[in-house]
Amino acid sequence: MYRIGVRNAENTHEYEELVKIFLRPEDYEVGAVGDGASVSEPAAVSENSFDFVTSADPDKNVKKQEIYSALQQLTGESPEWGIITGIRPVKLFGDLVREAAGICGEGGITAQQRREALPAAEKKFREYYFVSEEKTELTRRIYELQQERFGEADERSMGVYAGIPFCPTRCLYCSFASNPITGSDIEGYLDALIREVDECAAMAGKAGMHAESIYLGGGTPTSLEADQIDRLLGHIEKGFMGPLTKEATIEAGRPDTITEAKLKAALTHGFGRISINPQSMKQETLTRIGRDHTPDDIRRAFEMTRASGDWIVNADIIAGLPGEDEEDIVRTLEEIIGLGAENITVHSLAVKRTSRLKEKDPEYHYKRGKAVKAMLDAAKEILEKSGYRPYYLYRQKHMSGALENVGYALAGTESLYNVRIMDEHQSILAMGAGGIGKDYDPAARQLSRVPNVKDYKVYIDRIEEMIRRKEKMFQEV
Ligand code: SF4
Repeated sequence: MYRIGVRNAENTHEYEELVKIFLRPEDYEVGAVGDGASVSEPAAVSENSFDFVTSADPDKNVKKQEIYSALQQLTGESPEWGIITGIRPVKLFGDLVREAAGICGEGGITAQQRREALPAAEKKFREYYFVSEEKTELTRRIYELQQERFGEADERSMGVYAGIPFCPTRCLYCSFASNPITGSDIEGYLDALIREVDECAAMAGKAGMHAESIYLGGGTPTSLEADQIDRLLGHIEKGFMGPLTKEATIEAGRPDTITEAKLKAALTHGFGRISINPQSMKQETLTRIGRDHTPDDIRRAFEMTRASGDWIVNADIIAGLPGEDEEDIVRTLEEIIGLGAENITVHSLAVKRTSRLKEKDPEYHYKRGKAVKAMLDAAKEILEKSGYRPYYLYRQKHMSGALENVGYALAGTESLYNVRIMDEHQSILAMGAGGIGKDYDPAARQLSRVPNVKDYKVYIDRIEEMIRRKEKMFQEV
């Protein structure tokens, strides 16, 4: 047991998030201590005292640096994201660029100010946040691409999300609000969601807000029947699509749920982006993770989608699935690149507390860290060679190797919705069970959460309250 004392900390949660990257939960304790505690060397293990105590520096990042260095010495590991425990490194990098350019609060940054401020931001990323050279470069490239391609969001714009919390079966690693499609009250849910869509559209219209991007996610929206998709998207189109709407995406997580009629319904209502998520092209893996589809289903889904119209296709894959190694991920990527996906998102497997995989093997993500790193490197190499560029990035808790998820895209096909949601400088109207909206205040550059309940039955029962929760979001505009 390794005991870490954090001096003068009101709450130790953030420090624990850092310690967790180095040590297994049963191997450490983190506690807050007052000024009197003694500082001992990391190796001096004692039952009755802390093995390491931070300084009393008021800057929490300095205390995190001290913990990082002590644990680096103890374990010999140097996690690549340094002391960053948050999930949005690119957003943090953007803040550092603004800080280096001397911009605080509201106001955009010019291309020249950005260029001049970049070296100082990179230096702080490496030297103050302890981020590796490689991850600093990745973050800078993504930040620059996002700025050049999309710039800052218009204050009157928003991202619009609607969620369908149903799937054909439950994946081994799933921790989302996903319910089996069979036996659920789909019609009752759709009635409630459509009501929320109509009423929120009316409120947004009155407030002069427009949808810049629209995303139908889940769960698996394509678990719905074609006529249900048609009905829902009809309301979304009427309520939110306009001349300033730049993209609309439908998630089709499970390839075996895609049909020509569903694709046609989505195209008819102005949806031009689709996310087909194979996760892997290896049959044993698909079976192991509880997916009912085969690699052939994935190939067919791509062919059907291409034949139905002009789509930009995203494919999600996961590095670190049970039984997979570098060769498997390269083979999966070769196939998906061959199928012509314009966007490919490479996730590091996150094993969350509520997943079945966590129950089966609580140590899974600790054991797989190095293998996942090798898989991400192999993925980056093949994708960059094939013309894809990294364009958005985020991290999650409980990720194998404490690494990251990276979205790659062919030039000009990047998803605006993905960039804006991670950047957090735009309001997100999130409708449906499990949706977490964000109300952005441009003057303060701050967000407040506007959550819906997670359980779809409770959502149906409390739909009136879910709608009223959005009123504030539009009143303040
Ligand atoms: S498709 Fe996504 S939401 Fe559905 S069970 Fe699998 S991980 Fe969960």
